[in-house]
Amino acid sequence: MEKIVITCAVTGAETTRKHNPNLPVTPEQIADSAHEAYLAGASIVHLHVRDEQEKPTQDVKVFKKAMELIRKKCDLVIEVTTGGAVGMTPQERLQPVTLDPEMASLDCGTVNFGDEHIVNTLPIMREFASQMKARRVRPTLECFDLSHVYGSHVLIKEGLVEPPYHYGFVLNVPGGVKYEPEVLDFFVRRVPAGSFWTVMGIGGKASLMSIYGAVAMGGFIRVGMEDNVYFSKGVLAKSNAQLVERAVRIAKESGLEIAKPGDVRKLLQLRG
Ligand code: ZN
Repeated sequence: MEKIVITCAVTGAETTRKHNPNLPVTPEQIADSAHEAYLAGASIVHLHVRDEQEKPTQDVKVFKKAMELIRKKCDLVIEVTTGGAVGMTPQERLQPVTLDPEMASLDCGTVNFGDEHIVNTLPIMREFASQMKARRVRPTLECFDLSHVYGSHVLIKEGLVEPPYHYGFVLNVPGGVKYEPEVLDFFVRRVPAGSFWTVMGIGGKASLMSIYGAVAMGGFIRVGMEDNVYFSKGVLAKSNAQLVERAVRIAKESGLEIAKPGDVRKLLQLRG
């Protein structure tokens, strides 16, 4: 049976407890929520952390603590964010990569983010890719806009990213490209042959549609409160695990087997 990988983005940078009081924010809560997501079927946790005021931070001490707590509980693959949050400098964003996680996100272009924006010039992207390559951290090449897939081609051509490639198509960020089947099709046709890719839709509807899109087109799934705080229209998610459980159900009903962290390590050739 074909295996599908589920990533859970448990916290994110922009979601707050005002959006959903069940959002995990402390390292302990984040580790517990990641563990529950693992038990529900997630094999990768996409990790952001918060400071004591619950604000997004790229502080390595907080990342280290969350990573240690997660590793004590289970063997989830950890993907740290290098997108960070709006207003952070590139050097600030890159910090958690120095902890040698197995994976890290790598934004492949500048994007508007609501009224704000996140800057990723080619020199910034090259620096991030070089650091990840040197540390054998597998990047998730995140594309928020159509042009970003071409940005990823530049990094690949320059040898800064090596196969197997793993993409993350981020759909419906306010300012980025929308979730539409043609958009997903555009991305899928332009990644190098043999690439793996995960679809993430921001907001309730796009998140759910992204699960179906991934299943239909042979990609991987991402869910979690970073992307969407609702379970259904107007109904808040009780937990990250609840969102993972639904993704598992949809995948299984579609005849797919759920990948374990060990499968991901093999597929994406992670350091382990
Ligand atoms: Zn993120």
